Order: sequence, then C-alpha cells, then structure tokens
Amino acid sequence: MTPKNQPLSGNELARFSGPNTFMRLPQANRLDGLDVAVLGVPMDIGASWRSGTRFGPKQVRAESAMIRPYNMGTGAAPFDSLQIADIGDIAINTFNLSDSLSIIEDSYGAILKYDVIPVGIGGDHSITLPILRAMAAKHGPLALVHVDAHADVNDHMFGERETHGTVFRRAFEEGLIKPNSTFQVGIRGTGYAATDFTEAKGWGFRQYPAETLWHRTLTPIGEEIRDEIGSAKVYVTYDIDSLDPSFAPGTGTPEIGGLTTPQALQLIRALRGLNIVGCDLVEVSPPYDTSGNTALTGANLLYELLCILPGVEYR
Ligand code: MN
Ligand code: MN
Repeated sequence: MTPKNQPLSGNELARFSGPNTFMRLPQANRLDGLDVAVLGVPMDIGASWRSGTRFGPKQVRAESAMIRPYNMGTGAAPFDSLQIADIGDIAINTFNLSDSLSIIEDSYGAILKYDVIPVGIGGDHSITLPILRAMAAKHGPLALVHVDAHADVNDHMFGERETHGTVFRRAFEEGLIKPNSTFQVGIRGTGYAATDFTEAKGWGFRQYPAETLWHRTLTPIGEEIRDEIGSAKVYVTYDIDSLDPSFAPGTGTPEIGGLTTPQALQLIRALRGLNIVGCDLVEVSPPYDTSGNTALTGANLLYELLCILPGVEYR
C-alpha cells in the first residue's frame, strides 16, 4: 500500500514556512489515486455587499498551517485513512461571473471523472451552483446540508439569476438537490419580504432558524439531520457567515445572532456517518478579517469536514 500524504509537520519545518497548500499537504497535479481533492475557488464577483472572498482560499490555506493531523476531540485520523491532496485553484475569469460559473462547472466535471471527493474553499457562495450542477450530473439529485445565515433563495439580485443569494432556488428549480432532504441551519436576520424563507419551506426545505438554536447544543440537530438523510448521497455547503460575527467577522454579509464556534463543531461532528460526496466552505473575506480568526475558523471547519468523510478511521 502506498503511504498516504501527510500534512507537513510543524516539528519538521516551521509552520510559517513551506508551501501554501491546505495544511501544507502535497500539491497534486493528478487525480488518480486520490480519495479527496482540496481546491480553491478564489472568487468574489458573485457577492452583493462586501467583496474580498477572492482572497479566501489563499488565507484559509495560510491559517490551516496551524492544524495538526489528529482530531483530539473525536479521535478522527483522516490522513491515515484517505489519500488527500491540494490540487490548487480553479482559474476563474474575474471579469465575468457567468463565464466563471461555467469554468467552475467544467473544472468540477473533470475532477468528478475520478472517484474523488472535492472539498472546495471559496470564494463567495455563487460557486456552489456550478459545483452542484457538476455533482448532480454525476450523482443525480443530492441531499443537501446548507449551513448559512441566509437561505440564498432569492429569485434574482439586481436582475441577475446567478449570484451568491440565488443559489438554492436555482438548485431546486434545476432538480440538482432533493428538496425534502435539504436542511438549512442558522438562517436569520432581516428579509426583503416576510416570506423570504417560507417559500423554500413549501418546496420541502427543512429550516433551523438561528433563534431556535440559541443557547442549545447542535448535537441532536445534527443527529436528526443525519438520520433523516440516511445513506443518500449528500453535499455539505458551509457558509462561514452562519457563525456569529463575533466569531467570524471576516465575511461579506455578516448577520448578528449567529452560531457559536462550539455549535459549528457539534453540528459537523454529529453529521458523521453521512455519505458525503462533496463539500465546501465559502464566504471567508480576508480584508475584513483583521485578526485572521475567520480564516482560521474556516480552515478548522474544513478539517472537521475531512474528519467525517466516509472511510475515515477513528482511534
Ligand atoms: Mn450563503
Ligand atoms: Mn450567508
């Protein structure tokens, strides 16, 4: 058996040096033999308020240098179990949103020719629509766990139908997701109309508004979602603005009253056992992240997602 890729240890080379790959994993140019491909989608031209997520992948990777391979909370040993590499960034066209979305769909289509789980680092949330198009082309309609302050189900924004605020309406319309197996966790804030969230509920989406989660453990919520989805193929999309801005201020459209970092960990850890075929972490905006905590948190949530992928051993 070929030895599996390991993150470069902080005892081997100081954490502040070395390659800017996720957790300083090897960069791979080939997909055969990989179980998991971590990749960046450096884009912010689908965002409606603050920009800056084009720098997300670079900064999340930089902060990920702090993370060590074994999960002391859960015992997960993802790098002993799966062959994981960073495959670099998608070459989006920063002057053209719709062209960029096509490039993302084509790039994911090429990746998904292999038996590999893509783990995307955004980028604003508009990247998830072309990702879901490519994922559904391979797997059929997917169950979806969507953690976000926003439902992202607008019909259009400024007349545009493909933006970071319209993703899951398009995904529903195009049959990319199973509406009765779609779970939105952490939604809150203010709407353009009082019915902004309820229409999606009518499609079958299950919603867990932030207000119903305040001061509660998310472990039973995660377990409920896991049990409802069962063995179906599922995509997990994690918008960092689901967290409260006190925990994750570096994001494009912050909303007060959000999830705590421990709740984020409880939720992901409770989803262990799901048949995850892909995931992403989006909306980290380094220019608004003066402490680096948002990128650090995003990197750790990506690590926690790696820890619950199918095939990961627990010690
Ligand atoms: Mn979003
Ligand atoms: Mn959001």
